[in-house]
Amino acid sequence: MKGYLKKLPKEVQDLILLAGDIASINNMRAYLVGGCVRDLLLKVENLDLDIVIEGNGIKFAEELAGAFNTKPIRHRRFGTATVDLLSHRLKIDIATARKEFYPEPAHLPVVENGSLKDDLKRRDFTINAMAININRDGFGKLLDLFGGEEDLNNRKIRVLHDLSFIDDPTRILRGIRFEQRYNFRFEPKTKKLLKGAVALRMLERVEPQRIRDDLILLLKENYPLKEIRRLKELVGFAFISPGLSVSDKIFRLIKFAEKQINWFKKNYPDRRMLDTWAIYFMALMDPLNSNAVRKVCRKFVFRKGEDKRILGYKKIGRKFISNLKRIKNKPPDIFSILEPLSYEVILLVKAKYKYRGIQKTIEDFLEIYNGMKICSKGDDLRRLGLTPGPSYQEIFTKVLNAKLNGAVKTKEEELELIKKLIRKWS
Ligand code: ATP
Repeated sequence: MKGYLKKLPKEVQDLILLAGDIASINNMRAYLVGGCVRDLLLKVENLDLDIVIEGNGIKFAEELAGAFNTKPIRHRRFGTATVDLLSHRLKIDIATARKEFYPEPAHLPVVENGSLKDDLKRRDFTINAMAININRDGFGKLLDLFGGEEDLNNRKIRVLHDLSFIDDPTRILRGIRFEQRYNFRFEPKTKKLLKGAVALRMLERVEPQRIRDDLILLLKENYPLKEIRRLKELVGFAFISPGLSVSDKIFRLIKFAEKQINWFKKNYPDRRMLDTWAIYFMALMDPLNSNAVRKVCRKFVFRKGEDKRILGYKKIGRKFISNLKRIKNKPPDIFSILEPLSYEVILLVKAKYKYRGIQKTIEDFLEIYNGMKICSKGDDLRRLGLTPGPSYQEIFTKVLNAKLNGAVKTKEEELELIKKLIRKWS
């Protein structure tokens, strides 16, 4: 077995051998391609395998999934399929080799079936345009048509042809992401081509949802501050919102946000996973007013919940902050102000406003009050003879406040308090 694949865990090697055999039995040729080949050569773990098939990718995906008693997930729009092998911690994306033409700059390409070579030619950078043969004849052989391995060794990001950024300007964001992730550099001509595409404002000509997806990927990188700095240096932020510029103050906010994210992950590993990209995105939007942010959300068509979070942060004004400063040691107020906010917004507020009072209030909220609920239910009130009506809500609020204040702890204590409240009313 050739060196590259030997670096993979044994069970992944076996799976790749099996995939190659399934392709051979069906008279197809199969190749690992793209990011997994790049990362294999870089010795970086990557359990997202991309397989390109010369033949019928969907049929291959069905056969491969069948070997594991599962079914592929088909993505009809793209003619691709995914086989998720949770037992192996592996996700395998499968596509038929294809050829692409760009009928118009910055628009989606027209696609037709092609050879592996065609498929590699349509890729973004040389380091992402290598393939490894996985059929048994030639198993493990690297196919490197554009000098990707040399660029990896020289730590260079290089496009495959001069019109690459014009055809697909999202590659500008992808390039910055890979450059910063691996601590590479754009090769000089590629950098010039990138700047040329920026000068032509090509990013503004792409369907905004595609920009959104690549921007989110960039912000999902481990510590995206360096990607954001590079974005400022090479591109600017007008493609997000006209006139948006990101000052040192915002860079500091992003740095503080990063610290808060680490603090939260360390202290609350059992809470839901943070959408860290949203925190960084909100920080970038900090200089914009609510109207401008609303326009950005509309343009990028964020999902409903994401919209709500991003706009939620914009609602935090002076009044909110002065309330937050005042409510130290008032648990019901802390709860009512912070509970409706997402963790993402809370952490960004914590990053931005460093007053001791605010820090302590947020820490107390996360530590003690977040998610607090009472045990009593409507049925309990009915059993105590109270007719259903608006008084229920009033009682529940009073009991919750008592619980937040530490005056009641158990369900028995809640019921005692409820009885007292009912007696007072009757
Ligand atoms: P990551 O490690 O971030 O997942 P990746 O290289 O696996 O990176 P994907 O977005 O999954 O990135 O894309 C898989 C492959 O598809 C890339 O390696 C590249 O060859 C190709 N590709 C993806 N997007 C583009 C694009 N916009 N233009 C050309 N090729 C692309």
